[in-house]
Amino acid sequence: MCEEKDSQEKEILSIKKKLIKRRGELLDKISSSKEKERNISEVDRGDDIDRATTSENREMVFIMGSREREELKNIEEALRRIDSGTYGICNECEKKISKKRLEILPFTHYCRDCQSKIESSSK
Ligand SMILES: [Zn+2]
Repeated sequence: MCEEKDSQEKEILSIKKKLIKRRGELLDKISSSKEKERNISEVDRGDDIDRATTSENREMVFIMGSREREELKNIEEALRRIDSGTYGICNECEKKISKKRLEILPFTHYCRDCQSKIESSSK
């Protein structure tokens, strides 16, 4: 059982690395599109530049595609779960989620069984 626990921890560590890398990529993407937007705004908006800089956070969120925003949110949440030791544990039955499943669906909160139960009950 000890061995199993070790490999699960290693797996989570490698997922964590991947998530951090992906988060960096997303943040790069956001900051580069922010840069682009700023150049556009200098030309097009003129007097509105002040307003644009004060609402920088809102602007950043606005510029990001909703898909990226969602992914970043999921990554942040998964990283929090990793740090608090609840990552890879099913929210429903509190059993470990299989490594294979986590590789495919790193943000899942449920094991396969619970997920299919949830999906079939929501249909
Ligand atoms: Zn479960």
